Amino acid sequence: MAQNEYGEKLDSNGYAPSILSKSPTCLICGRYRTARHEVFFGPYRDKSKRLGLWANLCPWCHQNGVTAVHTNREADLRLKKWAQKKAMEYYGWPEARFIQEFGRSYL
Ligand SMILES: [Zn+2]
Ligand SMILES: [Zn+2]
Repeated sequence: MAQNEYGEKLDSNGYAPSILSKSPTCLICGRYRTARHEVFFGPYRDKSKRLGLWANLCPWCHQNGVTAVHTNREADLRLKKWAQKKAMEYYGWPEARFIQEFGRSYL
């Protein structure tokens, strides 16, 4: 079975367990009926999956609402900033290491 560089097992779709939330409900509003959102989507989508930087979001918070992360830049950046802090804490990375991994800092 595949694993990431920290020894965490990946599921058949390449996801490590989320380091952001273990809840099946929406990370932002707590609703059910969620989909996985890779926080650093785009060129870093696969790395987001592999390092557990994804979370469950309801359709409203994900794509459909006025403050959805895929349509609202502020909401997207707020989530990225929070997730960067979580990643640095979880993996013990200084900010420079985060930038190496994800191309920039959101702090
Ligand atoms: Zn939601
Ligand atoms: Zn998404």
